Amino acid sequence: MKPTRINVNTPGGVLRQYFGYERFRDGQEAIIEALLSGRDAMGIMPTGAGKSICYQVPALLLEGQALVISPLISLMKDQVQALAAAGVPATCIHSAMTADEYAEAMHGTACGEYKILYVAPERLDAPDFERLMQTIQISMVTVDEAHCVSQWGQDFRPSYLKIAEFISSLPERPVVAAFTATATENVREDIIRHIELDAPYVCVTGFDRKNLYFEVRRPADKLRDLLAIIEKRKEKCGIVYCATRRAVEEVCEALGRKGYSATRYHAGLSDAERRANQDDFSYDRKQIMVATNAFGMGIDKSNVGYVIHYNMPKNLESYYQEAGRAGRDGNPADCILLYGAKDVHLNKFLIEKSAEQSESATEEERRALIAKDMELLKVMTFYAATTDCLRSYILKYFGEKADLFCGNCHNCHTIFEEIDVTEDAQKIISCVYRITERAWPHGKTMIADVLRGSANEKLRRAGFDELSTYGIMTDVPKRRIVDLIDHLSKEGYLLTSDGQYPTITLSAKSGEITKGGKQIILKMPKYAEPLPPSAAHESAKSNDSNEPVSAELFDALRVVRRRLADEAKVPAYVIFADAALKDMCRKMPATESEFLDVSGVGEHKLAKYGAVFLETIQTYAATQNQEIISPTRS
Ligand code: ADP
Ligand code: ZN
Repeated sequence: MKPTRINVNTPGGVLRQYFGYERFRDGQEAIIEALLSGRDAMGIMPTGAGKSICYQVPALLLEGQALVISPLISLMKDQVQALAAAGVPATCIHSAMTADEYAEAMHGTACGEYKILYVAPERLDAPDFERLMQTIQISMVTVDEAHCVSQWGQDFRPSYLKIAEFISSLPERPVVAAFTATATENVREDIIRHIELDAPYVCVTGFDRKNLYFEVRRPADKLRDLLAIIEKRKEKCGIVYCATRRAVEEVCEALGRKGYSATRYHAGLSDAERRANQDDFSYDRKQIMVATNAFGMGIDKSNVGYVIHYNMPKNLESYYQEAGRAGRDGNPADCILLYGAKDVHLNKFLIEKSAEQSESATEEERRALIAKDMELLKVMTFYAATTDCLRSYILKYFGEKADLFCGNCHNCHTIFEEIDVTEDAQKIISCVYRITERAWPHGKTMIADVLRGSANEKLRRAGFDELSTYGIMTDVPKRRIVDLIDHLSKEGYLLTSDGQYPTITLSAKSGEITKGGKQIILKMPKYAEPLPPSAAHESAKSNDSNEPVSAELFDALRVVRRRLADEAKVPAYVIFADAALKDMCRKMPATESEFLDVSGVGEHKLAKYGAVFLETIQTYAATQNQEIISPTRS
C-alpha cells in the first residue's frame, strides 16, 4: 500500500513518516542537523513557526530517551497526546497525575519505553526523579519556553535556574537545545548563560507571520465594535484579550447574552475552573476565549482565527506574542487592536503599581524599571497611532528589515491623503507656550479645550479663557487636536511627561515649527473602508495553500474529526489540524497512498484514521458525481 519506502533514518523521512509533512520550514532542518551532530542549539522562532518539530525529529533519531522541560502541564499533555496520535511513544511526569499514572510513567521511563519525556522544571530536583535520571540513557535535554530562565522575560520561573545543575549532575552530558519566541538580546544572553549552552548553534527565524492581518481601531464604543467584528467571523474561533478581570467578565457576559459561545480565563478564577474553561476552548466546545494575559503561554490551538485586544497591552513584545496565537495553522487570521486613550492611563497605572510591588528593588532601580516600562509603552502607543504599515512597524522594532508596504494590514489597505497641518501645529504649540507661561503644564485635553474655546469651569478658573490662543480652533474636532498633539509628541516637537496624568511642554524642536517655517504634513485616512476579510487575505501568503475548498466536505470532515476526538478524549487538532482537513478537500484522495500525500498525514495517522476519512471523502465525491450526472439523465 505504501507509495514509496520512506527512509526513517533521516530527518526528512521522520518528518514524513510520523508527522506527514513534506518539507521542513525555515530553520528547522539546520537546528536538527546541529543537534544530531552533537552540538547544542538555540532556536528563536515566533509562535507557530514549528519549534516542536526541531526537537521531536532528533528525539526519534537519537538513541535513548529525550527529556523536554516545559513550564506548563496543559502544554505537556497536549504534546503527549499529539505525539501519541502520530505514533510516537511519549509521556509526561507532573504534579497533577494520579499515583497510578505517575508509577506507570516512571516505570516506563526506567524501561526505556519512550522516545520523549516531558517534565516540569520543579521535577528536576525531586529525589525519585533524580535517581531515575541517573540510570537511563538520555539522548537530549530540550528546554521549551526557555525565556522563563530570564528575569527580563515576563514569565520568569525560578526553577528554570536549576536546569544547568541538573544537566551537569547526569552521568553523561547529553546535547542540549533551548527554544523560545522571545527575541530580545537580554533574554537570549540569559538563556545561553543560565542553561550553560555550549557554543550553541543559534537560529533566529523571521518574525514575520505573513498570514496574520493587522489592524488598529479607535472605536467610540469598544463593545459594539467588538460584537461587530466577531459577528463577521462567526464561523471562526478566537481570543479576546482584556486588561483586567472585570473587563473579561463584562465582555464574556455580553458575548453570552448575544448568543455567542464564549468562556473566560483570568487569575481570579479557581484552578479547576481555569482548566475547565481552557479545555472547553482547546477542544472546540467553546468558540471564543475572553481572557487576561494570564491565558496563553503554551496554548497549542492551531485554528485560532482571530485575536482581538480589547485593551492595548503594555508593550509590543506582549502584543505580538498574544496576537501571534492566531493563525498557527498558517491560515489567514486577524489581529485587531481596539485602542482607547484610557488604555494608556491604565497601563501607566499598572506599571507604577508593579514597580511599587517589586520587593528587591532599591528606589533607584525602581525608577529605572518604571522608565524602561514607560519607554516600551510609548513604542506600543505609537503602534496604535501610526499610519504606516503596521507589520513593518513591528518587524523593525524586532530588528528585522521590512518593506514599507506589506499589503496585508489595515494601514496598507487604507488610502491616506497628505494634509498640510503646519498652521494647526503652530496654533497648538503657541497654546502650549501660553499655558506654561501663565501656569504649570497641562494635559492634552486641557490644551484642546483652550483651543476650541470651551466654557469648562476648570479652564476659566485657571484664567485660560484670557489667553490669546483661546478659541482659535473652534472648527476643529477635539479628537483631531488630540491626535495632532500625539503626532507632534511622537515627532519630538512637543514633550509628553511620564506618569499617570501626562502633561505637555515645549521641546527644543518646537521652535522649528513656530519660527523655523518647518512644514508639518500628516497622513490622514481618506476613507478607511475595511476590506472584506476574504479580500484582505488574498495577498496573504501562508505555508498552506489557501485555495477555497468545499465548505460541505470540510464540515463533514470536521464532524468525523469531532467524533474521533471525543472518543479519544483529545482536542480536535490532535487528530488533524484544520490545514490537513482542507488539504483533504483539495486533494480528494481516493486511495491510501493518495491519503498519505495529504499534508499532516503520516503512516500512523493513515493506519488509524485513513479509512474513516477516505470513506467520508468518497461519499461526498459520489454525491457530487450524482449531481453532475442527474440532469442529463432526467
Ligand atoms: P511553536 O511551538 O513554534 O509555536 P508548533 O511546534 O506548535 O509551533 O507548530 C505549529 C504548527 O505548525 C503545528 O500545527 C505543527 O504541526 C505545524 N508544523 C510544524 N512544522 C511543520 C512543517 N515542516 N510542515 C508543515 N507544518 C508544520
Ligand atoms: Zn502593511
